[in-house]
Amino acid sequence: MPDDIHEIYAIKYGHHDRRAAENYIGGDPHDVNDPLDFFVWAIVGPSGTIVVDTGFDAAMAKKRNRALLKPIAEGLKSIDIAPDTVANVIVSHLHYDHTGNYACFPNARYHLQDTEMAYATGRCMCHALLRLPFEEEDVVAMVRKVFAGRVTFHDGTSEVAPGVHVHKIGGHSRGLQCVSVKTKRGLVVLASDATHLYAHIEGGRVFPITYNVGEVLDGYDTIKKLAPSAKHIVPGHDPRVLERYPAARSGLEGWVARLDVDPKS
Ligand SMILES: [Zn+2]
Ligand SMILES: [Zn+2]
Repeated sequence: MPDDIHEIYAIKYGHHDRRAAENYIGGDPHDVNDPLDFFVWAIVGPSGTIVVDTGFDAAMAKKRNRALLKPIAEGLKSIDIAPDTVANVIVSHLHYDHTGNYACFPNARYHLQDTEMAYATGRCMCHALLRLPFEEEDVVAMVRKVFAGRVTFHDGTSEVAPGVHVHKIGGHSRGLQCVSVKTKRGLVVLASDATHLYAHIEGGRVFPITYNVGEVLDGYDTIKKLAPSAKHIVPGHDPRVLERYPAARSGLEGWVARLDVDPKS
């Protein structure tokens, strides 16, 4: 197998029921439940295991009124990944649901966009509305990792390992990055919150927590250019991901899915 081909796993750890109108700027005419799932992702290949995002823990689930289904460490262990052996963690952005559990990976180097750290520690955080999706302790924990020499900053598109690249998108958070991964079925794009649901990128719709709407919409074009087809784009919070992709192993249905194989639909 070429030395830049990877397996990818989506690991669900949380859930939140909500009305459809809450997921789109301009609302939604359908008065239905349109829930979000919460995921972290594992990229497994010749460069070792790279974890994308670190989720939230039980205390944060309670504070934010979200359901923690399985702690992320349990999800990783279900596919034989020991968190303390993970050497690289890509943080798509610093929102509370993507950068908690910061003691879980004691030996990892963290990969973050310049702009995201500047945003989360700068003047925009003077505004309560923009602060809302951030947690002070999460941001401080990342600053401490900078001072411990454990953060690699990226600016734009950058290689994390052969076949694994980050791409700055912005929009939803000022320094949001997505991740492209070379797999045996082609380049798969882990969009994270560059598209929360399939409906966002498919319909040109925008999630209400947004720094810059224009960048969100341009981001959809960037992702579509990166991915060889719509089936190579993995949204960050869509429950359909676990319906479309096979379980990583029998017994892990509804929890851990394999993304480097073709989706069922
Ligand atoms: Zn977010
Ligand atoms: Zn999110």
